[in-house]
Amino acid sequence: MSIPNLTYWRGRTLYVNPSYRCTNRCMFCIRNYDNGVFGFDLSLDRDPAPEELMEAIRRTWKTGFVEAAIVGLGEPLLNLDGTLASVRQVKSLASIPVRINTNGEALLMYPRRDVPRELALAGMNHVQVSINAPDSQTYVKLCKPSFGEKTYASMLRFAERCLKYMTVELSVVRVPGLDIEACRRVAERIGAQFKVREYRGPPELLDAIASLLVG
Ligand code: SF4
Repeated sequence: MSIPNLTYWRGRTLYVNPSYRCTNRCMFCIRNYDNGVFGFDLSLDRDPAPEELMEAIRRTWKTGFVEAAIVGLGEPLLNLDGTLASVRQVKSLASIPVRINTNGEALLMYPRRDVPRELALAGMNHVQVSINAPDSQTYVKLCKPSFGEKTYASMLRFAERCLKYMTVELSVVRVPGLDIEACRRVAERIGAQFKVREYRGPPELLDAIASLLVG
């Protein structure tokens, strides 16, 4: 039986949702206060198989999509084979750009695989890595990564390796007490683009973040 919620769309962008799991527990994560976006429920009780994602893409497909985005409510690269199959499926349907939003922890998740190269070979064009902080200490406070303190450096290494194959953007969520300009300098240092995303959750979560970062 096919699983619902594997694809969704907005305007002329097709979105793919490969996983609801994550290796982080970010304080600002949408999953703390919602179960989807754009009116779609994106909760999943298991990761879909590659074939299930491909079938969902084919079922949702209509000519007119101008890009595809691998952006679930969890970390898409936890379902790496599903992500790769999704990119290949989109590329077989149309020659449109495909991008992904990730927490950038793939080198820690798959120490024996070359994930940047595998993404590139599948056809990935752009990766957005959510760095969310200018340094490891702040990242650990805000994002509570299960890989611990080594996560931040590994995330930047992942972004740098991706730069060999595709465009890379580092992103942060604007929260009180976060030094956005210092984050921008991290992106400049490695030669990546930079994006500030606006926080859209409940204000009480912002208060908790502010007291954590500002003290
Ligand atoms: S990395 Fe993304 S999905 Fe995971 S907890 Fe943070 S905001 Fe949520």
